Amino acid sequence: MNTPAPRCFALIPAAGVGARLAGAMPKQYMPLAGKPMLQYALDTFAASAAIAHTFVVVSAADAYIDGFLATQRQLTGKTSVMRCGGGTRQESVRNGLQAIRKHASDDDWILVHDAARPGLDAALLDTLITALRDDAVGGLLALPVVDTLKRCTGKKMPRVQETIPRDALWAAQTPQMFRYALLHRALKEAQAQGCACDITDEASAIEMLGLQPKLVHGNPRNFKITLPHDIALAASFLQGQE
Ligand code: C5P
Repeated sequence: MNTPAPRCFALIPAAGVGARLAGAMPKQYMPLAGKPMLQYALDTFAASAAIAHTFVVVSAADAYIDGFLATQRQLTGKTSVMRCGGGTRQESVRNGLQAIRKHASDDDWILVHDAARPGLDAALLDTLITALRDDAVGGLLALPVVDTLKRCTGKKMPRVQETIPRDALWAAQTPQMFRYALLHRALKEAQAQGCACDITDEASAIEMLGLQPKLVHGNPRNFKITLPHDIALAASFLQGQE
């Protein structure tokens, strides 16, 4: 009997509060070029034939998600909400993986994507899936670092301690795409080793198992909205797309 081909599921941790943006609402719901930020990623995944289903992880106390989804008919049947967000991004991802256990097989691909990256588009998503579908480990979108990098001393009045050679450095983006069982094991082991708080992406946990995730060329428009000035920059990309 043939084993079914692995499916691709999107998992979107959206349980953050966006403290560095200091907005009136969590950043994933902030309006951006006419749509709530979260809608961009959800629409991209829902429109992709390669994605079997999308799961959004929000906090148990989220007061926005129901009202938001009520206005998003295009997502019906394609997107589910799980109210199991945690205190850190990794905890939200770990809880989300646990919650979708009954839907995903060990070999299915999980694409973890930040709600705060509205610039992911169909072409970039396709590039990632095509590059990784037959990979033994999985990988992530990322961009080679182009700026000169300085390590500093002091946070308030930073001074340069050293310059770090940038030739082999890449900046990680999302989605990060790994098979369900491998990702689940990697995040559990990272947690058991007490380093879950230091881990800011899924690839780091995979690396701790001694594996080497593949880097797939991303796009600057897929940057993460973190600081207030990021909003205007993202809006200019997204308006162009509309
Ligand atoms: O805070 P940061 O911008 O790094 O968050 C990246 C992603 O992780 C966002 O989509 C955010 O909502 C999510 N997150 C989460 N649970 C947390 C913190 C962040 O799902 N406790």
